[in-house]
Amino acid sequence: MENENLDQNNIKSFQLVIASKNIHKIREIKTILNEITPNIDLLSLIDFPKYIPPEETGESFADNANAKAIHAAKALNRWVISDDSGLVIPALNGEPGVFSARYAGEKATDSENRKKLLSKLVDLSDKDLYAYFECCMAVASPERLKKSVCAKCEGRIETQERGGGGFGYDPLFVKHDYNQTFAQLKEAVKNKISHRRKALDKIAITIESIQVTK
Ligand code: IMP
Repeated sequence: MENENLDQNNIKSFQLVIASKNIHKIREIKTILNEITPNIDLLSLIDFPKYIPPEETGESFADNANAKAIHAAKALNRWVISDDSGLVIPALNGEPGVFSARYAGEKATDSENRKKLLSKLVDLSDKDLYAYFECCMAVASPERLKKSVCAKCEGRIETQERGGGGFGYDPLFVKHDYNQTFAQLKEAVKNKISHRRKALDKIAITIESIQVTK
């Protein structure tokens, strides 16, 4: 019994830093990880206000996710999980893509980014409204990149915003087989079907293995 408690305490002491300052991403990742890999103490970059993230210069979500994880793990001397994600519209040559967060400019708000996207949709036909969210995640230790995964959530883009929940492009995105935008769905529903959920499902086994061997 004593040993069992000791083991549980050890497992609970495993800390993982979410390499993001985006409160929406942090909230979603914490909710999902608490469900699929409980007993991890989850921190985020909000707990390390002096940390300066690297420039996002990658040409893919995967490049950026890897760079974010490696940089933060080294600088903070901790295990880290990163998230680089965005919306892709193939009929717009992949825009906004890796520029999703800064589509309308370096300091653009989510609302300004959506407005820019809406202005680009006017010339598109119905079939061109196919879109997907992509989320790449990486787990790194201070010594090395341990694992990197990517996942997509496919659907279509709307030409009018609907819903007040979520963040980013959620009011404009409807997943295949759904009628409501991500901003209209309950948070718990989005967290079961999103690109972020799929990526976390893929990387969970790596987190569990680190947790056990720590
Ligand atoms: P990042 O922080 O460079 O990975 O940029 C992520 C950006 O992609 C966000 O600021 C949003 O604009 C968009 N994005 C990523 N995931 C989501 C999502 O789940 N819903 C809506 N927008 C998202």
